[in-house]
Amino acid sequence: MTVLISGGAGYIGSHTAVALHQSGYQIVMVDNFSNSSPKAVDAVRALTSKEVNFVEADLCDPLALERVFQQHKVSDVLHFAAHKTIAESFSEPLKYYRNNLTSLLNLLTVMEQYEVQRLVYSSSCAVYGQPKKLPVGESSPQEPNNPYARTKLIGEQIIKDVCSRGSLAAIMLRYFNPVGGHKSGHLGEHPNNSPNNLAPLVMQAAMGKREKFIVHGDDYDTRDGSGVRDYVHVVDLAEAHVSALARLRKGHCGAVAVNVGTGKPTSVFEVIDAAQKACGTQINQEISKRRAGDVAAIWATTDAAEELLDWRAKRDINEMMVDHWRWQTQHPEGYI
Ligand code: NAD
Repeated sequence: MTVLISGGAGYIGSHTAVALHQSGYQIVMVDNFSNSSPKAVDAVRALTSKEVNFVEADLCDPLALERVFQQHKVSDVLHFAAHKTIAESFSEPLKYYRNNLTSLLNLLTVMEQYEVQRLVYSSSCAVYGQPKKLPVGESSPQEPNNPYARTKLIGEQIIKDVCSRGSLAAIMLRYFNPVGGHKSGHLGEHPNNSPNNLAPLVMQAAMGKREKFIVHGDDYDTRDGSGVRDYVHVVDLAEAHVSALARLRKGHCGAVAVNVGTGKPTSVFEVIDAAQKACGTQINQEISKRRAGDVAAIWATTDAAEELLDWRAKRDINEMMVDHWRWQTQHPEGYI
């Protein structure tokens, strides 16, 4: 019984690989390194102190994917592999639809062929778009406002349709904003191109790798004018996958979407404060205009995660920043 982790060399996939392995699961990670490094696989292996299976393959290549199923007794799938940059999804929408949907369709096809019946899917709070009511629950309106988010919602709909036919059961985890890194400092977020997420940008400004941190908008209708999000520690998020898999193994649950956040709203300026405490340094900031595709505020209801998965986040924003800073200072150039 092997759990396939697509996108296993990526930020969330690599942390989940460690968490799953520590919970006793046999795993095979699959990645094409389009946004990650083979060194992340080495780091997972070093942290688990055991041989972890890894296959370099593109999920858009159905034959390569089928070879993974031929070579490993895959019993469950955690599907992380996707492109995820909102700005890029506006400039290259086809790249996003092609990669995110072809990889999912190929995966579902080969899962059906090999009778693999459990799937955890990486969805996103981006499927809600600009919420009209906060916090957002799983049944809140889903009105994504960028191509990336639309690929995630279409992915959910495809999975629901496949599940409605019978054997497949899926938990679609709608992540809020993952930050932080593994306590060891050996795993963290390192995109191949310039980062787009807040934490790496703040940390790079703190290290002097970039001159300043740009705050995109301080005129939102929020408590301090900056954007408000629900930041969740990546290790908490990894543990949510272990819980989701345990739930799927208990019995068929159809296709169900679950928010994964802390339920706590935190503004950009509050993140900067926590980051300054973690780094022990002042961070240069500049206020700029709002970014296309960004919403003013979003945070999660957490009841479904607690009830269905028996999971709740344990780590707060200060711990997230301390752990992100540790990774960043130990690996100023990422996995290179
Ligand atoms: P990431 O880019 O670090 O990881 C994704 C991994 O998938 C990368 O290692 C990349 O090389 C790989 N990949 C992409 N396309 C592939 C393909 N066709 N074949 C094989 N490998 C491929 O991203 P992440 O932050 O770890 O995100 C993981 C998942 O979570 C994604 O599906 C993303 O949409 C979703 N998500 C992320 C966030 C976030 O802020 N990080 C928030 C919500 C949802």
